[in-house]
Amino acid sequence: MKDEITTGETSVADEQTRVGSTAKAYGTKAPTDPLAPLQIQRRGVLPHDVHIDILFCGICHSDLHTARNEWHGTTYPVVPGHEIIGKVTKVGNGVTKFKVGDIAAVGCMVDSCRDCEHCKQGLEQYCLDGFTGTYNDPYKHLGGVTYGGYSESIVVDESFVLRVPDGVDLAATAPLLCAGITTYSPLKHWNTEPGKKVGIVGIGGLGHVAIKIARAMGADATAITTTKSKTEDAKRLGAHNVILSTDKTQMQEHADSFDFILDAVSAKHDINEYLRLLKLDGTLTLVGAPEEPLSVAAFSLIPSRRSFAGSLIGGIAETQEMLDFCAKHNITADIELITIDQINEAYERLLKSDVRYRFVIDMASLRNQPDAMQSTHRPKNKLR
Ligand SMILES: [Zn+2]
Ligand SMILES: [Zn+2]
Repeated sequence: MKDEITTGETSVADEQTRVGSTAKAYGTKAPTDPLAPLQIQRRGVLPHDVHIDILFCGICHSDLHTARNEWHGTTYPVVPGHEIIGKVTKVGNGVTKFKVGDIAAVGCMVDSCRDCEHCKQGLEQYCLDGFTGTYNDPYKHLGGVTYGGYSESIVVDESFVLRVPDGVDLAATAPLLCAGITTYSPLKHWNTEPGKKVGIVGIGGLGHVAIKIARAMGADATAITTTKSKTEDAKRLGAHNVILSTDKTQMQEHADSFDFILDAVSAKHDINEYLRLLKLDGTLTLVGAPEEPLSVAAFSLIPSRRSFAGSLIGGIAETQEMLDFCAKHNITADIELITIDQINEAYERLLKSDVRYRFVIDMASLRNQPDAMQSTHRPKNKLR
């Protein structure tokens, strides 16, 4: 009898999952198309699910890369967005961490195997089966791919939903869900603390948050930039020092002096110039992702036993720790709030680094739009 009941419950749950609800979203159906209104399906709330009405979503450079298929793995239509903050509007009957009315957040992941050696250590971002990305990853519940935060709502298992501390600026906190954790995790892993000299290369969406976090961790924080006009801004953001990397004298003065350098530059650059700034046993970690391979000279590493490393976002528990840390230290991103219909313009400006330092979409502007006429399914007569 017990089995029958279980089977019955499962099928009801399956039905709810399948039916779900439609949601307004913004996305694109082809790499060269602008982003436009779409209607997407969200699954119904399962016992451990949280349904969130999205209030704000940050725009990450990965969104643009994916929308335009620059990493060659995009399934269309794509709805980007993985810096999500919203209000909980429904919870499943097994949910323990959230209740209706809570402010909650979702970052770059919505699931993982939860069973491999990395997941068990809270390193879901390195799941051996590959974590499920918030957008453009195979979607086990409804088929197709996951749809991200450029949407009025999202449904996520509570294990992958974060608590947002009381009293924070919600719009300016949204970018922390990717830019914040991407920089917090390596800064912490490589022991950023008082007495350490830490460099941040590139003052952009990631770098500007990294400066604030490194300073709050107590390190001597140095911004390293190619842009002279960002020098003053770097100090305002909290950098103790700023090095203009195009100035050879300045670079020479700081040679062999850094414990750790976080490199957030996603354009091609000469990594050897920065490796030479590291002292004995120093590490340079990449979080920016240049498209072309970087060339590393052996003698940039050998003489001072230096390390060259990489790092990917952070686990769920660490993301929560980062949000709590940032709330405690009053850290948010510097943002420009836009409406959903400004998104294509924002993408163009992002390409020119013309934003200080993160665009965030006010999702009320999507909610208030008339219903999207287009669906996510292309009409058959347009398929050629
Ligand atoms: Zn991102
Ligand atoms: Zn796993």
